[in-house]
Amino acid sequence: MTSNKPFDVEAVRKDFPILNREVQGNPLVYLDSAATSQKPQSVIDTLVRYYTEINANVHRGVHTLSQEATDEYEGARIKLRKLINAKEDAEIIFTRGTTEGINLVAQTFGAQHVGEGDEVIISNMEHHSNVVPWQMLCDERGAHLRVVPINDDGELLMDEYEKLINPRTKLVSIVHLSNALGTINPAKDVVAIAHQHGVPVLLDGAQSIPHMPVDVQDLDCDFYAFSGHKLFGPTGIGVLYGKRELLEAMPPFQGGGDMIKSVTFEKTLYNDLPYKFEAGTPHIAGVIGLGAAVDYVNAIGLENAAAYEHELLKYGTEQLEAIEGLRLIGTAQNKSSVLSFLLEGIHPHDIGTVLDTQGIAIRTGHHCTQPLMQRFQIPATARASLAFYNTKAEIDALVEGIHKTFEVFSL
Ligand SMILES: *Cc1c(COP(=O)(O)O)cnc(C)c1O
Repeated sequence: MTSNKPFDVEAVRKDFPILNREVQGNPLVYLDSAATSQKPQSVIDTLVRYYTEINANVHRGVHTLSQEATDEYEGARIKLRKLINAKEDAEIIFTRGTTEGINLVAQTFGAQHVGEGDEVIISNMEHHSNVVPWQMLCDERGAHLRVVPINDDGELLMDEYEKLINPRTKLVSIVHLSNALGTINPAKDVVAIAHQHGVPVLLDGAQSIPHMPVDVQDLDCDFYAFSGHKLFGPTGIGVLYGKRELLEAMPPFQGGGDMIKSVTFEKTLYNDLPYKFEAGTPHIAGVIGLGAAVDYVNAIGLENAAAYEHELLKYGTEQLEAIEGLRLIGTAQNKSSVLSFLLEGIHPHDIGTVLDTQGIAIRTGHHCTQPLMQRFQIPATARASLAFYNTKAEIDALVEGIHKTFEVFSL
């Protein structure tokens, strides 16, 4: 990759039309990419082109449009397979997003393998979408959810993790990069330790996928779930990667068209992978748009972007740490893209509201990680999250906005 070329953030910003708009009379400072990323023009154009020129259902028609739509749909699958270095296209299943991917595994693999008294391991920093599906499964099955604790910096306690694994452990499901803390978990070690005990691992890749190169074969994870909309693609589309042997052995998720080979009232034969898990007409435009997003990040180079973001995070951390009365939540050694913080005496919601009057978009609240907030004994944080289209000037605007927030609340 072109890693010694300096990262040209101004050129990148020109690709994202929304970054030109104003909010409340100020230029938009978008620091909420962990909630959803903005979309480059190429993705927007691809969606328009799909509906303008080739809209048709996939996998069914003999007519030209249907074939073109199918070619683009399956072409996007290949792009996604390459993006995460999966072995086969059949291991790429299109879902609605990370949430649906995790629910799919819980309701198929989980239903098949988790019985009374069995255990599923998650961590204290999981997004609700990597908590609740397992909780629902465990409740239904009389199984138990075990939680890996974390330290005050927001890092997994790996010794405790290893101690939690026992013969009743059926699955480990851990976030790769925490959306609330920015912690990058040692995913490869998490997988290796589980595999020593014969336990498969799902990685929640919702945040890692837009911020670092991901290689599922190198990680050796069994499942990897992510969302298109955090990877500069459309909403409503995501990917579940699974190793072929596991996917083959799993029952279907939903029943309907496309997931079958033949149907009689006596018996249905299920389709081959990946179609077995893609019932019904898929989000064709979303898939093709996500393919365009993959083309876009490949052109930028995720490694390049990650290096630039790392610099930005370091700068932001230094700037925020220098502010009196500000406390950072999430101070892991290995971190990316997230600055979660508290201001003494001011509720995070109020911070977000004052910053919005200056055109600065951050997220405030529990970030769908209430058990993590309970761990830190706080109700919420203010979170600025970065993408490769952010600049040091925007960090400066945030710092200025924080000073103004203190002023507003000291009156
Ligand atoms: C956003 C997010 C999810 C959920 O993704 P959806 O797109 O809402 O399905 C899960 N885990 C993490 C870490 C996230 O950041």
